[in-house]
Amino acid sequence: MAAKGDMLWAWAKDGNMLDNGECGGAVTALLKFALESGAVDAVLAVKKGVDLYDAQPVLITKPEDIAQCAGSLHCGTLLIPKIIKKYFDGANRMKIAVTMKGCDAKALYELAKRNQVNLDNLITIGLNCGGSVSPIEARIMIQEKFGLNPDDIVKEEIDKGQFIVITKSGEHKGIKIDELEEEGYGRRLNCQRCKTKIPRQCDLACGNWGVIGDKAGKATFVEVCSDKGADLVTKATGKAIETEVPSPAALSIRGKVEGAMLKLGDKCRNAQFEKLGDGKKRLDYIMEQTSRCIKCYQCIENCPICYCVECSTKKPHLVDSGAVNPPFMFHLIRYSHVADSCVNCGQCQELCAMDIPNALFMHALQMEMQEMFGHEPGVNMELPVLAYVEESAERKRLSDTGSDQIFNIFSEGA
Ligand code: FAD
Ligand code: SF4
Ligand code: SF4
Ligand code: SF4
Ligand code: SF4
Repeated sequence: MAAKGDMLWAWAKDGNMLDNGECGGAVTALLKFALESGAVDAVLAVKKGVDLYDAQPVLITKPEDIAQCAGSLHCGTLLIPKIIKKYFDGANRMKIAVTMKGCDAKALYELAKRNQVNLDNLITIGLNCGGSVSPIEARIMIQEKFGLNPDDIVKEEIDKGQFIVITKSGEHKGIKIDELEEEGYGRRLNCQRCKTKIPRQCDLACGNWGVIGDKAGKATFVEVCSDKGADLVTKATGKAIETEVPSPAALSIRGKVEGAMLKLGDKCRNAQFEKLGDGKKRLDYIMEQTSRCIKCYQCIENCPICYCVECSTKKPHLVDSGAVNPPFMFHLIRYSHVADSCVNCGQCQELCAMDIPNALFMHALQMEMQEMFGHEPGVNMELPVLAYVEESAERKRLSDTGSDQIFNIFSEGA
């Protein structure tokens, strides 16, 4: 019987799942079990599309279709919670089991705080995540740095600090991620800054770190993070998965790898934020970069915090509706609405038509607000500071006192 807090190694009982899964197929087996047992109505997972640079979300209702999603797509940079909100009514009308990276898990919490998704109807299977590579950048990197044709690659892996590609003819080539990133290739910039390596916000957190000896590559390390996760593992054990208790050495290795990744995240944050400069210099840089915006709305469409039916950036009294490039107010509105809750998912940067480093700007702002108010987005259901402000009361105070600050959040006892 599994319980919240348990750590175990798990692998699929079914031989095909065991062979085709990334690390023993436990995740595929758990998803299939959840569907077959009626715990959920559907599974939302990610499958390979036309090639391994094309990660496609897929809603599955037939258990036999789940096998097509086995394997990890490191060029899969989708943000799954926004898909649940937009296309599946926030899981209000069906129970869904879903796989999630750390940024997905954080975005899910932010959407849940805003009543845009129903956590009660979701079983979340988290995947540890060392980082993902933008599909376009991956193609360029494989061409330029690996000297290989991106269309000849049939598999990619991240192992022991290397990005490894395997060609149609069976050639393996690996290059250290450090070396790739020093030259501007490798993981997305937001992934380099990310410190959500083991997504403990999910019901289960699954990954290969801490699987050693004979089981290395053939089992997944599962951390049970909730009662819901414990229930799924308990019911699936012996039927869909086999489990084993990891040795103290395995636990220690997993802890050390996570610790090293967190340190690396800090180092990357410092380096990237330092390049932005401070104060006026930073503002000038942001204004210069955003001046090439063509108002394609990808940043707003894909941000998990942006869910408003009537976006303020579309109100002509705030942003001139005909202007391309839009005035800086367009960006200021988004910064002021999103910065306290930005989860550094990177979508607003990766999908920006003009390659504006939006996520870097927003994450830097968010970290400053976190230092000021102590609120860390995406880790639990705690509301951001501004959610506690009564706007009408603040407007009255402004009118009564002549204060120039609408939200007097710095005052004592606020
Ligand atoms: P499988 O049975 O093969 O099932 C894998 C499931 O993952 C599938 O259901 C599929 O829907 C889902 N999936 C695949 N790609 C994505 C994606 N891009 N986004 C969301 N869901 C996806 N583990 C570590 O310990 N350390 C790491 O650094 C690490 N980095 C990872 C980076 C990425 C981008 C991904 C996707 C996974 C990473 N993992 C990492 C997790 C690890 O690779 C395995 O997914 C995990 O051990 C489960 O293996 P499995 O055989 O049980 O999964
Ligand atoms: Fe993984 Fe973090 Fe990058 Fe998301 S932001 S893909 S969790 S490293
Ligand atoms: Fe993600 Fe950008 Fe929104 Fe931050 S602002 S949550 S990085 S889309
Ligand atoms: Fe809502 Fe502001 Fe985002 Fe527009 S920019 S969708 S108003 S949060
Ligand atoms: Fe402007 Fe980029 Fe946002 Fe498009 S995605 S509206 S170009 S900042």
